[in-house]
Amino acid sequence: MNKNITKLPPYLFIEIDKKKKQLIDSGVEVINFGVGDPDLPPPEKLLNTLKFLLMQENCHQYASNEGEEIFRSSVSSFYSKRFDVKADPGSEIINLLGTKEGIGHVIMGYVNPGDVVLVPDPGYPVYSNMTTLCGGVPVTMPLLEENNFFPDLTAIDSKTLEKTTIMFLNYPNNPCGVLAKEEDLKAAVDLASKYGFIICYDNAYSEIYYDDNLRPGSIFNIKGAREVAIEFNSFSKMFNMTGYRVGFAIGDPKLLQPLLKVKQNVDSGCFIPIQLASASLLSEELDFIEKMRTVYRSRIKVLTEGLSANGWNVSFPEATFYVWAKVPQGETSMSWSNFLLEKLGIVVTPGEGFGQSAKDYVRFSLTLPDEDVKKAIKKFEEYYTNF
Ligand code: PLP
Repeated sequence: MNKNITKLPPYLFIEIDKKKKQLIDSGVEVINFGVGDPDLPPPEKLLNTLKFLLMQENCHQYASNEGEEIFRSSVSSFYSKRFDVKADPGSEIINLLGTKEGIGHVIMGYVNPGDVVLVPDPGYPVYSNMTTLCGGVPVTMPLLEENNFFPDLTAIDSKTLEKTTIMFLNYPNNPCGVLAKEEDLKAAVDLASKYGFIICYDNAYSEIYYDDNLRPGSIFNIKGAREVAIEFNSFSKMFNMTGYRVGFAIGDPKLLQPLLKVKQNVDSGCFIPIQLASASLLSEELDFIEKMRTVYRSRIKVLTEGLSANGWNVSFPEATFYVWAKVPQGETSMSWSNFLLEKLGIVVTPGEGFGQSAKDYVRFSLTLPDEDVKKAIKKFEEYYTNF
């Protein structure tokens, strides 16, 4: 066995799932704000196109690792219109089996034993876990509220920076729900070019925003990013397609090469009908995303207003479908999420599942039916009235 396997932390959701199941089995109604997996269906167009494609000949064979030309061209047009970013479909875009796959494999492609990978804390656990598995050293960058949940780059010492291979950044941010300021991203890009590491920019939530004045950008909107960054994006949250496993990476061909090399030896590409059907969404289904944003906006409003009315200190996120809420004084994210589950039947994700800097927070994911959000607020009201 790879000895690094034993260093991986236990999977956060297992314990929560166990308790949740016990409660459900004992007849308690459980409201699940836990996992960030959209409950809404994907566009009908996807299903219709897929049905059609499945009946065609030659769709059953291996795909290429780079992805189908149609897929890459549609990503290229989308990035041009949406972000004003030009990416050559022939050499600067590759298809992924979701961003998770790309993140795992880019680490395999870049990290040698002992190399440092800078990971946000709190952050998507794959960044640090895959680094550990590859023998690298994940070094956390705390995301604190006083810094608008962006890492304090001046706090990273030069010895660490010299050993750094990759810095992961994720904006719009899961779990904090914020965007990054342009000047902060510019500082990260400058640091990467000074020390010779790459930035892996996880833009999986780029389309989950609520205000046209706060529309998330691409890392390639930042001067100098072309030379140092790879951007990851996905259909998962954009079109409610988490189960389909389709995403993409964009970057300079030289920077993409190690990722592609790993992929050529590990996977055999994304099912061709899924690539083709997904491609059509990027050009024809953009108002689908707008309708989805309307649903999330209204759920978040109900939750944040309901929680605020009951004394919680929460704000509407700048982007994503997550509400990042501070726990009351004297509680930790674990004790508070256990309490919410056991006393109110409400599942939230404890902040410390995302990193040690998040012990004072819990995450609400608004990927559950509207009625459940209202029911949860009722439960809070009843609890606080009788408190
Ligand atoms: N990055 C972040 C920050 C995420 O929250 C997630 C999933 O929740 C992913 C990547 C993985 O997404 P995908 O379904 O594209 O693999």
